[in-house]
Amino acid sequence: MKELMDQLKGKENVTIDGRKVMVYCNIGSPDDVDQVLANDGGGIGLFRSEFLYLQNNDYPTEEQQFQAYKTVAERMGGKRVIIRTLDIGADKQADYFQLAHEENPAMGLRAIRICLTRPEVFKTQLRALYRASAYGKIAIMFPMITSEWEVLEIKRICEGVKAELRKEEQPFDENIELGIMVETPAAVMMSDRLAKLVDFFSVGTNDLTQYTLATDRQGGNLDRFFDAHHPAVLRMIKMAADNAHKAGIWIGICGELGADISMTETFMALGVDELSVSPSAVLPLRSTIRSINTAENREKILEDLLK
Ligand code: PEP
Ligand code: MG
Repeated sequence: MKELMDQLKGKENVTIDGRKVMVYCNIGSPDDVDQVLANDGGGIGLFRSEFLYLQNNDYPTEEQQFQAYKTVAERMGGKRVIIRTLDIGADKQADYFQLAHEENPAMGLRAIRICLTRPEVFKTQLRALYRASAYGKIAIMFPMITSEWEVLEIKRICEGVKAELRKEEQPFDENIELGIMVETPAAVMMSDRLAKLVDFFSVGTNDLTQYTLATDRQGGNLDRFFDAHHPAVLRMIKMAADNAHKAGIWIGICGELGADISMTETFMALGVDELSVSPSAVLPLRSTIRSINTAENREKILEDLLK
């Protein structure tokens, strides 16, 4: 099996009928880059930046963050590295944030909501990200978006950070891509407008399933009900993909479902451009992609989903 997989290294992620798919990796710390490289990941589709916040007893400094992001960007040698801004709150807590106890944390102050409520914390991370962008191909992704105003406010803060860095004569990539996670039903329903504001979408199927099906992703005898294959979730992915493409941007999946090879053909039919998975899933996914003829069952898959 390992030998079979090794033979796939260096090969393209391309379907029988010639459709290329980006297969990227999800990582949680700079140490994971070894596994990305060993498994031939085409880039990093989700770098969860929480590790820096969760392993510290206080807010990580700009310098600490800069070094971590720079290391990953450099080691990936010009391949795209999508770093997600802080997604703390709900199940991921750090005491020094002193977040109030919430009855319903998944619906509470988490992720981008914390960043927009505490702009200084957000700005420190953005400064580190922009500075690191001088050392590779960094893209920035924002979690838990529900509204256009959030994206507009984020972009305003980013412009402020860029102006500051220019003034300090710090180098950064002027064309850094900004994307959002599509992981709330609101983001899906607004995806036509949101797509005009950003460079890419990445579907977080873990949260999208939780919020679409009103089913806690943390479990609690809900296994039968937490169904990421539910047509409601798949229809949402289709809507977001159609709106992404109408606006000329790409769409990926970085939730767990992206690695589910029983779904790869469906994702191809829906027009998904990128799948971001754990490093060990890259080569099995490549093997699956290379065995699919997207034209063959596309109509039937779409018909079944929409009927
Ligand atoms: C998701 O929600 O699918 C996702 C990729 O993000 P996280 O699991 O970190 O919330
Ligand atoms: Mg999520």
